[in-house]
Amino acid sequence: MAYERNNIRSLSPYVPGEQPQDTRVVKLNTNENPYPPAPGVLEAITGVGADALRRYPSPTASEFRAVAAQTHDLDADQVIATNGGDELLRLAMTVFCNPDGDEGVGGIGETWPTYSLYDVLARIHDTPIVRVPLEEDWAIPQDFAGQLNDAGCRLAIVVSPHAPSGRYESCDRLRQIATEFKGVLLIDEAYTDFARDDAIDLIRGEDAMDNVLLLRTLSKGYSLAGLRFGYGLAHRNLIAVLDKARDSYNTDILGQVAAVAALNGQEQARTSCAKVVDERRRVGDELARLGWWVWPSDSNFILTKPPAPGSGQNARDIYESLKAQGVFVRYFDQDRLRDKLRITIGTPDQNNTLLRALTSRT
Ligand SMILES: *Cc1c(COP(=O)(O)O)cnc(C)c1O
Repeated sequence: MAYERNNIRSLSPYVPGEQPQDTRVVKLNTNENPYPPAPGVLEAITGVGADALRRYPSPTASEFRAVAAQTHDLDADQVIATNGGDELLRLAMTVFCNPDGDEGVGGIGETWPTYSLYDVLARIHDTPIVRVPLEEDWAIPQDFAGQLNDAGCRLAIVVSPHAPSGRYESCDRLRQIATEFKGVLLIDEAYTDFARDDAIDLIRGEDAMDNVLLLRTLSKGYSLAGLRFGYGLAHRNLIAVLDKARDSYNTDILGQVAAVAALNGQEQARTSCAKVVDERRRVGDELARLGWWVWPSDSNFILTKPPAPGSGQNARDIYESLKAQGVFVRYFDQDRLRDKLRITIGTPDQNNTLLRALTSRT
């Protein structure tokens, strides 16, 4: 006897990158930051006393929102704190999308390929999905917003820098999409700390847009994937409706104090991101020297394609061979990606191990 809804029965759940127990593995598969978080983060967590644990935390993470507002030169009512950036994605679908059945109207629009969690969340919400294929160079097609409007989408999600290609979309291009699109444009900026610029101008100042929602996370740029802390930035009206649908205590006291300390420890995060960016250039150059195709990346990973199969190389084989040598990278068995690998940038030592493992097998 099946008790669940049909959409849940047919659901293929999200498949996260492997998290091996063996700590000797060089883990370049889930875009974690190889450097530690700011020391203030650990101090803040260990400084939480029994009394703070006994009580409920601030339901709105008020101190965090104040610090985030200051960091981004926004108002505190333009910030919502979430249990990882992933909760913000779920919340946006709960608030803006309609379940299927409304003649296919009211779903999400996305580029293809994209972060695979979007589809899983849309299926959990039983909301329609409209996919617009990216151009050859992973650019968003000119008629993206038009196609989504025609399909009646309520929520568009673009990720910039893009996952899994690393491509950066300019603020001007994103503004154009937000202007044309009739629903809410969620810009997933999970990797923005490694990018040349962000899209925050869209929600700041006199001509701030009221249909743009930026997703930020402490998982990547701040080395805190284990903490599960993310946030949204938007016009106060958008934040207010998201706030209505969130769990009453969606972030806990440890997360809140650690997140405040992380934003206050900007310098450490900036330094580690800069090191990753330097290594991104070096690893890209080395791969290109070995004959691999490397797409320009503004992220903490690179998408790369090994030399043609004629030379005996094939992305899946290389992925398996690296794994056997204790180096984990990400392989996606899907259209446009199955001939490529996504490699997270690690420390110089980790990256050298990767490059050695690649050359030793060729
Ligand atoms: C990592 C990531 C997120 C958010 O991750 P959390 O760990 O839940 O904060 C969102 N979007 C993309 C594309 C990501 O890679």
